[in-house]
Amino acid sequence: PVRVRFAPSPTGPLHIGGVRTALFNYLFAKKHNGVFYLRIEDTDQNRFVPGAEAYIFEALEWLGIAPSETVGKNEKFGPYRQSERKHLYKQYADELIEKGWAYYAFDTAEALDFHRKQHEEQGKTFIYNWHNREKLDTSLVISKEETEKRIANGEAFVIRFKTPVNETLHLKDIIRGDIKFETNLLDDKVLFKSDGMPTYHLANIVDDHLMETSHVIRGEEWLPSLPLHSLLYKAFGWEAPEFAHLPLILKPIGNGKLSKRDGDKMGFPVFPLDWKNEDGTISSGYREKGFFPEAVVNFLALLGWNDGTDQELFSLEELCEKFDLNRVHKAGAKFDPEKNKWFNHQYLQKQNDEELAKAFAPIVYEKGTDVDYTSLVKIVSSIKERANFVSDFWELSDYFFVAPTSYDEKAAKNWKEETPNLMQQVISVLENIGDFTSVNVETIVKDWMTKNEIGMGKVMQPLRLSLVGALKGPHLFDIIEMIGKDETIKRIEKAIA
Ligand code: GLU
Repeated sequence: PVRVRFAPSPTGPLHIGGVRTALFNYLFAKKHNGVFYLRIEDTDQNRFVPGAEAYIFEALEWLGIAPSETVGKNEKFGPYRQSERKHLYKQYADELIEKGWAYYAFDTAEALDFHRKQHEEQGKTFIYNWHNREKLDTSLVISKEETEKRIANGEAFVIRFKTPVNETLHLKDIIRGDIKFETNLLDDKVLFKSDGMPTYHLANIVDDHLMETSHVIRGEEWLPSLPLHSLLYKAFGWEAPEFAHLPLILKPIGNGKLSKRDGDKMGFPVFPLDWKNEDGTISSGYREKGFFPEAVVNFLALLGWNDGTDQELFSLEELCEKFDLNRVHKAGAKFDPEKNKWFNHQYLQKQNDEELAKAFAPIVYEKGTDVDYTSLVKIVSSIKERANFVSDFWELSDYFFVAPTSYDEKAAKNWKEETPNLMQQVISVLENIGDFTSVNVETIVKDWMTKNEIGMGKVMQPLRLSLVGALKGPHLFDIIEMIGKDETIKRIEKAIA
């Protein structure tokens, strides 16, 4: 059965790349009627950031992709927080030592530095592994007795993986196909520290095994860990899960990896929710910017995947049906903030006007104006086509609520010498209309223009300018109906004056 996981380290707010990983795991699980679970990887206590864990849960909840097993929820293989599983890991490190797949190392930071520098001077990279240790300095390789003595003396140690020497590993990745790794180029990674905590590598493999993970779907930055992880499964004698490493998410301009700074610098969010930084500043999130969760899910799904057609709009349900790891590509996926807005625009059109009016009402109220609900629904329906966000509504519709205080300069060129006189005549026409509906006013005004052989442009543009302050907005007679007879006439008089 398919069991996949999202395994974030709560070291800060969830980056959009992390959310994409969570989403692809979620979709893969749903597609195969499997389980999507979430495990908190918090063994590195130096990097613990308060609030980060709650943020992760809230973000996934908001997006509608919450895990079905996690901390405090269906803890079938619990606990799901690694710091609460501490007691578990030591025995696995011991097991590897017994089997000859790991060893104690007492190197001081100075000794390691010394070797690193010495290599650098010769233009080489220092690879810390058994192969090199033996060649380097036999004093680093110590006997079993000496090891035991040092531990008994309370000397600080780490337990390192003993990478096999002179092997070529042939590994498989669902997205990348066959990949080769030379073991002599791998470091003997630390598995366990003397503070009693496992490192990421050990805890991750032990937990993926104990929690019966079938597939590991994660970001490309973990690809270099694949050889170690696959060797660890071998060392324990466990069946390894299948692996899929998702493509990098690239910044909008240039070729680098997308970072938090790109968003802050260029003014777009790279977090799902707002995050308060230590210095009190806010890094903005999609939710607070006014994105719909459906839009965020949609654009994230297309960061590295498509269904083979040029369809771009997918509901979460549809994604669950169509998602296929075999259609995820290896090449980095470009992040496009403008396109993200387009997605939100599409989802905004799908919302019903009543809901949008409810979201808009507080903004209208805050501006010190008011309007009845029915009119607000009409206003929203007439402008939403031009909006990406509810927060765009005010700028697109302020003229419904308040008379223009200034007139667009370019548009004012349409204001000719004869215009005031013409507008005066329009006022007289409007004054005599009883039924002030859009259609009726339009018919009467247009009849009057035809009868008097007055060109459309001569009346319509100055009229729009008087009412709106610019040559923008929906059908002019809809605006006239909405603001009503008195206000319409008042605004024309003001423009003439
Ligand atoms: N804790 C790792 C992270 O922060 C998990 C990597 C993995 O999925 O194996 O991304």
